Amino acid sequence: MTDPNDTPFAADAYFLGPKSENGSWVRGEFQAILDHWYDWRRSLFADDPEAITEARRLSPEFLREREVLGQELRNLLVMLRSEVPKFTPRYIGHMVSELSLPALLGHFATLLHNPNNTSREVAKVGARMESEAIAMLAKMVGYEPALAQGHFTGGGTIANFEAVWRARYRLDHALSLALVLAERDGDELDPFAAAHMGWRKFERIQIERNVDEETLRAASMVLGNPFEVAKRISQCSGRDYLGPVLITPGNKHFSWQKAANLFGIGESSFWNTPLDAQGRVDMAALRGRIDEARDAGRPVLCLTSVAGTTEAGEIDPVDKIADILDALKEDGIHIWHHVDAAYGGFFCTMRGGKAELVLAPEQRAALAAISRAQSVTIDPHKLGYVPYSCGAFVCRDEHAYRASSFQAPYIDRADTKDKWRCTLEGSRSGAGAAATWLTGKTLGFGPEKFGKIIAAGIEARKTFQAALAKANPLVRPLDPADTNIVCFSLAKPGERLSVSNERTLAVYTKFQANEDFSVSKTVLGAESYGALIDAHLQSYDGVRDEDTLALLRCVFMNPFWANPDTRDQLTPEFIALLAEFTA
Ligand SMILES: *Cc1c(COP(=O)(O)O)cnc(C)c1O
Repeated sequence: MTDPNDTPFAADAYFLGPKSENGSWVRGEFQAILDHWYDWRRSLFADDPEAITEARRLSPEFLREREVLGQELRNLLVMLRSEVPKFTPRYIGHMVSELSLPALLGHFATLLHNPNNTSREVAKVGARMESEAIAMLAKMVGYEPALAQGHFTGGGTIANFEAVWRARYRLDHALSLALVLAERDGDELDPFAAAHMGWRKFERIQIERNVDEETLRAASMVLGNPFEVAKRISQCSGRDYLGPVLITPGNKHFSWQKAANLFGIGESSFWNTPLDAQGRVDMAALRGRIDEARDAGRPVLCLTSVAGTTEAGEIDPVDKIADILDALKEDGIHIWHHVDAAYGGFFCTMRGGKAELVLAPEQRAALAAISRAQSVTIDPHKLGYVPYSCGAFVCRDEHAYRASSFQAPYIDRADTKDKWRCTLEGSRSGAGAAATWLTGKTLGFGPEKFGKIIAAGIEARKTFQAALAKANPLVRPLDPADTNIVCFSLAKPGERLSVSNERTLAVYTKFQANEDFSVSKTVLGAESYGALIDAHLQSYDGVRDEDTLALLRCVFMNPFWANPDTRDQLTPEFIALLAEFTA
């Protein structure tokens, strides 16, 4: 992907480097942070006395404690030497790699000032940085930053819960209103239609029909007894009300299972949608799921699509899903669409630039359509190169962001912008928001810089995959790979799946015992991935005698794969190792 009109961009100035190549000047930046931190203390309340005098600092008992601290710190450093080395390009295992310098520096600087973004009382600057960073992420996915709202979370799992929480809040309001109108005024009650009326219609009807808060509360499943309210809904609608369903694609992350469990809707209300031969949600099956819910009189609590699946980095046709949901809106059915872009959100940095051409047109269209969904999950601690723990939940507008509010009497209530009212988590570190903020201020979240790093990862995956397939006749990549992850099995033509699965898993075990490269594995089940498994087997006349497909998985997010020397040394080494393992 060369663009002669592009200004050259030195991506390698944004990472320390696998050999600490940028170490000397980066040390200076860390030193500057410490100097600033010291000076902040010295200059503030300059006339206050020293609390720890020099004489004290030289006393034997003081020096003894210093010795203890120094010793144990060194022990910690020795232990950390055995930590999984995720900075090296030899680490292509999971969705984690080298951290970016702005993220590290932003995180570290903020850590020293310890803001708790739960409240402006303890995070004056942290809270402002969070709003600005959320606006940057909102713009990245195509939301109008001035309208969008959101906050940072401990990760993608919590961000997904935030979506369900808000979707349930909206659904509960709508159903309560419809139940009041049915019981009080004798209106007909269709729980499916009522639950999806949307906030605007809800507000209009509440005023027009004069339903006060107290009456609404008495009809709420969340505020009252859900079993009693369900009975009343059943009576008014003339059929048993079985509660809402959560529609998720078969390629979903397991955090959705946790959500179904946590929100108490029951495992059987968690509706899986099968995938097509490419591993993306099957559109006909999805339509079928919505119809099924409508026929059963069960509202759709939330419909999820995935941009960047955890297994293979695939991108669901978010645009086609948005088309279906827009068509339903014409019938007054507003289904909550949440895009789980925990992994793939940062693919949007390529939007609008040449970098985007590394993606197929379908994936470009899908990413562009995230802006049509109610809400999105983005994990800066994955493809954002930000340290853990840093996820983000962003809503397209203020309406969608509304959630149950709680009062905490010991926190000053004058400031209504405080987040604690509307986040699942309580105390939240401001470090992740600041890491994201400094990344946005330097690399930006657009195609000029950040998008090029992301595109280079996808290019690296393509080059690696082609070299591997050419060198080793057993390599069977999942085809097509949408982004920067390659998954492959190891199979001979005409072989039974059980035999190739065994080989693939045995090779994975050998990789685990070898320190030269870190790869990961995944096992896909036929329940969701049946069509994909069949297509995969067809490519080499394999025989399906088992309902799972084992794959080796390599994630190309390490920025140093863009370096030709790195690529030219590591690719043949990997190929040789794989040949040894498959011999
Ligand atoms: C990683 C991931 C999650 C969960 O995020 P955590 O940050 O690990 O909590 C959710 N959805 C998808 C698609 C993911 O890849």
